[in-house]
Amino acid sequence: MFENKERTEVSSLGEFGLIDRIKKKFPIQNTSTILGIGDDAAILNNQDQEILISTDLLLEGIHFDLSYVPLKHLGYKSVMVNLSDIFAMNAIPQQITVSLGFSNRFSLEAIDEFYEGVLLACKRYKIDLIGGDTSSSQKGLIISITSIGFAKKEKIAKRSGAQNHDLICVSGDLGAAFLGLQILEREKSIYLENPNIQPDFENKDYLIERQLKPEARGDIIEILESQGIVPHSMIDISDGLSSEILHICRASDLGCRIFEEKLPIDSLTVSTAHDLNLDPTVCALNGGEDYELLFTVSVNDFDKVKLIPEISIIGHMSPKDDGACLISKGNNQYDIIAQGWTNFK
Ligand code: ADP
Ligand code: MG
Repeated sequence: MFENKERTEVSSLGEFGLIDRIKKKFPIQNTSTILGIGDDAAILNNQDQEILISTDLLLEGIHFDLSYVPLKHLGYKSVMVNLSDIFAMNAIPQQITVSLGFSNRFSLEAIDEFYEGVLLACKRYKIDLIGGDTSSSQKGLIISITSIGFAKKEKIAKRSGAQNHDLICVSGDLGAAFLGLQILEREKSIYLENPNIQPDFENKDYLIERQLKPEARGDIIEILESQGIVPHSMIDISDGLSSEILHICRASDLGCRIFEEKLPIDSLTVSTAHDLNLDPTVCALNGGEDYELLFTVSVNDFDKVKLIPEISIIGHMSPKDDGACLISKGNNQYDIIAQGWTNFK
């Protein structure tokens, strides 16, 4: 992965040199950012809006594998994962802080590559990088990102806000990122056994992209706003649909009914799952890392939601005593459980 290109030691710049270099690459874009990188703390102001804060810690070997994740993609994805949490409150992220721990295994060029991904994400999503921390670590790469967003109080969608009979909606399609990971892992093990064999990703671009370069669904938040839809509850799908819908059920003290035939699954996900002897529905339910939005809306919004192509209605909320269940294509009913959800047919 690390080709022997030009290599500059980060120590030749020093910590402050590095911070200065980062600051220059990231111009401030939002009026809510009063003061960015350079002082003991950043200053924000967004008048009458609520402030939302979310943070993530990403560890090499646990959350990412640098043998197949390019650093630029890692920078981009790290930001996406974090922005997704703010969008999942029906809010708009505007600032992030990025803290890094890395060893001298990482050259300045490697760190630059990481920040290129961060910069691309910041430009696309109009996010200001307003601070962070930089430290050396003994071995692996450590990334911590915090994002800050804003929303009007009455628009915020919590996990606990679902109401009985609400329609359950999901953006995009599910299961593709999980299959992308399976393919990357498979090619990695083939490569480790025989380094002369080049990875074979033919026709799997969509799956690989969903794994390496997910997009946080800010577009969905904009569409809901423009259609005058305020979701009752919302969560982003990081651990898989099953696990996330259970969070909404638990927090809202309700049950749910989800219909297998309504699950949005891309045709490439279906065919690749079959090739790998996996059930596409199980991939969609438990795969994880889709970073799509799962939310509930009032049944009164049905006519509006059904016209939005990016959104699928997959079921509805129900009384708690009914439990959380999946209705299969064969019209059987199964309990949704958070993980290890196999052989339900
Ligand atoms: P302190 O000693 O007060 O923690 P630092 O020297 O760590 O100060 O940071 C100085 C400024 O640079 C602060 O604004 C901080 O948020 C910012 N900063 C430090 N590291 C990073 C980084 N990796 N990315 C962005 N900003 C950073
Ligand atoms: Mg510091």
